[in-house]
Parts: sequence; structure tokens; C-alpha cells
Amino acid sequence: MEFGVIGAGFSGAVTARHLAERGHNITILDERSHCGGNCHTSRDEHTGIMLHQYGPHIFHTAHKHIWHYVQRFAHFRPYINRVKATTNGRVYSLPINLHTINQFFNATFTPQEAQDFIRTKSAHGPTQPNNFEEQALHMIGPELYHAFFYHYTKKQWGLSPRELPASILKRLPLRFNYDDNYFSHPYQGIPVEGYTQLIQNILNHPRITLYLNTSFEEIQPQAQWDHIIYTGPIDRFFNFQHGRLGYRTLDFERIDAKGDYQGVAVMNYCDASVAYTRITEHKHFAPWEADQFKNSVCFKEYSRQATAHDTPYYPIRLTTEMSLLTRYIEQAKTTSGVSFLGRLGTYRYLDMDTTIAEALTACHLIDQYIAERKPLPAFFRPP
Ligand code: FAD
Ligand code: UDP
Repeated sequence: MEFGVIGAGFSGAVTARHLAERGHNITILDERSHCGGNCHTSRDEHTGIMLHQYGPHIFHTAHKHIWHYVQRFAHFRPYINRVKATTNGRVYSLPINLHTINQFFNATFTPQEAQDFIRTKSAHGPTQPNNFEEQALHMIGPELYHAFFYHYTKKQWGLSPRELPASILKRLPLRFNYDDNYFSHPYQGIPVEGYTQLIQNILNHPRITLYLNTSFEEIQPQAQWDHIIYTGPIDRFFNFQHGRLGYRTLDFERIDAKGDYQGVAVMNYCDASVAYTRITEHKHFAPWEADQFKNSVCFKEYSRQATAHDTPYYPIRLTTEMSLLTRYIEQAKTTSGVSFLGRLGTYRYLDMDTTIAEALTACHLIDQYIAERKPLPAFFRPP
């Protein structure tokens, strides 16, 4: 069969590779000048430092088969994300762990003492948290919430934490030991040659033809594919006919520095008085080569509402967006010849490992339909 795959990020690349290995012919296109989607990396032309162009990406997963999958296409080095946060003139370790608690409350708690202490702080909080703020008060109490989460979250989302779902905070662990690993997954690392090289390797197959700088809209009139896998924004596919789905976008302000600028890859800024949310220093995402670079490149990250011309980053997914999304999903399910995948196609925040897992599940479903000689399903993310 002939497949058209729209978008050469992880969703599109993994799908293209699987279908090519099953003997299908794949045309994959991306309107950007590079593949890799938002995971795109490239070496800085001045310093040679590997830059994560759309914000830092650390690969982490609980799934051995996904970890094995990415190792097929790139050499990974172990990388543990140890984030620091500046609040009220002091530096702490994140996610909140025993060190953060002891520093913040000027204490020397043991794990059990810290747990008992935090329980007294959160005892007055809601028992059934219904939003981000209630979840924070329930988990850590008011002092830590105000110091680390209240202002940062307002900067990141442009909304009061009371308007946001509890699920956003649940992404972060709370630990009563000195483990300061930002993620809890057993497999964590960064590809030595970057994510773009990894994705190029996935796409390196004789049955795959990649067109960059090519949008779906310009090729659609003459396209003759049996089926389309669409990983671009779902509202855009339907010409925004029900309205635009809201996203947060990021602006990056580059800092060129000598030596070591901040001593760590990620420093969050949790105070309202600092407009940016964090500064990332990219050579620290590759500690195996960081010493080679005498200079450094950092980025201040500012979050704001995306306009029609901005790169979409974080789907907002509040009530208004979700009711719009429902209309697009209904439409997607009845549009034959196309399936929607990925973070833009399904309008969800997805980590890279989930993105790959969903693309593989979608492919297995397609295999099954083809084996049973049934017309391919018009699915909105694999069931
Ligand atoms: P994308 O990467 O967005 O790829 C979609 C591609 O489709 C794009 O290249 C786009 O140009 C193309 N496209 C769209 N519409 C069209 C069209 N009409 N015509 C042609 N091309 C089109 N995940 C982690 O696991 N670890 C992390 O540390 C991490 N950090 C992140 C940091 C930030 C700031 C953000 C926003 C996300 C982060 N993620 C992280 C998530 C990660 O970026 C996603 O999992 C991944 O990008 C999803 O891949 P995708 O292929 O679905 O989408
Ligand atoms: N967060 C915060 N302060 C921090 C780090 C995170 O308030 O120093 C909040 C913020 O709302 C963020 C959420 O916790 O969106 C989840 O954190 P994560 O690091 O997963 O956020 P991301 O950068 O992926 O949005």
C-alpha cells in the first residue's frame, strides 16, 4: 500500500519505519527544514554545543521495549535530570525531596520526620483535590506551594493554579529521601548524536521518501495515497472550522557565556519578579563532552499564549478547548482515509516514550486490518 505520513517527529517517523518494514511505500513530509519535530537538536554553529532547539528533551521510560526500540537507532548515554530552583533568593533542589524540605524549613528531618511534618502542613488542605492548587495544598501545604509552584505555574500557564487540572502537578514526584532525580523511570538517557540524528536513522529505509520544507496543504491536491497518518494539529486538518485549539508557546532568549554559566542544565525561577520560567544551559545535557567547550550557550524560557503564527508547545485543555476537541474528534472518526496520531494530532501533552508507544500500537492495528483485508480505520489515536 501507499501511505502518506504528515510530520517527521517521533510519531511520523516511527509509523513510517514500521509500515516500510512491512513492505509498504511511505511518503513522509514535514513543513520544517529538519526532521525530529519538537525534539530537534543541532550543533550550535559558533560553539559546537548540541542544542535542543525547541526546549530540552530527556528520554525517560518505564517500558523496556521502548528503551530497546530507541537503542536500535542511536547510542544513548545515561542522563539524570537534576533540576535546581531559585525562589526568594535561595537555591533548592527539585522535585521536592528531603533536601528541599530540610533546606526550606531549616531543619534536619529524617524521612519519617519530614513526612510527619509535611502531613501537619497539608492537613488543612482539601481531601479531594479538584484543581492544581488544591492538589498542591493536599500534597505539600501552603509554604512550599507558594514558594515553588504558585508563581511559576502562573507564568507557565498564564492562569491561576485554581483553573488548572490537578493532573499537571501529579507529573512531579514528592520524595522523603535525598533522591533528586526529576523522573522516576528506570530507563533515562540522551542520544549522543542528538534526537534529529536518531530520527534520521529511523527514517533511513529504502521504502521511505522524506520531503522537508513541504506542507500537507500544498501537496494534498495531487496526493494519491491509500491512507494518511496525520501528526499535525487536528484543528488545522479541518481548516479550524470549529475554532482554534489553544496552546502555550515558548520564546527563547539566548545567552552566550564564557565557561560555566549556571553550573547545572536547568535552573527554574519560581518568583513572580522574574518574567522567565527557567534558564537551560545546553552543554550540561551532554556531560560526557561538556568539558570540551570553553564557552556556553543558555536560553531563558518565556511562556505565553500561542497565536496562529507561533509554534504550538503545550495544549491548554481547559473546558473550552475540550469541548472544541470533542467536535474535532467526532469529525475525525467519520473522515475516511486518515488517522490522527501524536501530540498535535490528538491534542495532548505526550512524552517521547508514550508518543513512540502509541505510534507502534497504531501500526499494529493497521497490520491487523490489512491482514484481515478490511478497510483501514479512521482512528483518532489508537484505541
Ligand atoms: P512533533 O514533534 O510536534 O512533530 C510533529 C511534526 O509535524 C512537526 O515537525 C511539524 O512541523 C509537522 N507538521 C505539523 N503540521 C504539518 C503540516 N500540515 N504539514 C507538514 N508538516 C506538519 N518529552 C520527553 O519524553 N522528555 C522531555 O524531556 C520532553 N521535554 C519537552 C519539553 C518541551 C518544552 C515540550 C513542549 C515537550 C517536551 N517533550 C518531552 C515532549 C516531546 O516534545 C513530544 O513527545 C514529541 O515532540 C512528540 O512528537 P510528535 O511527532 O507527536 O510531534
Ligand atoms: N512547576 C512549578 N514550578 C517548578 C516546576 C514545575 O510550578 O519549579 C509546575 C508547572 O505548572 C509545570 C508543572 O509543575 O507545568 C509540571 O512540571 P513539569 O516539569 O512536568 O513541567 P513542564 O515544563 O513539562 O510543563
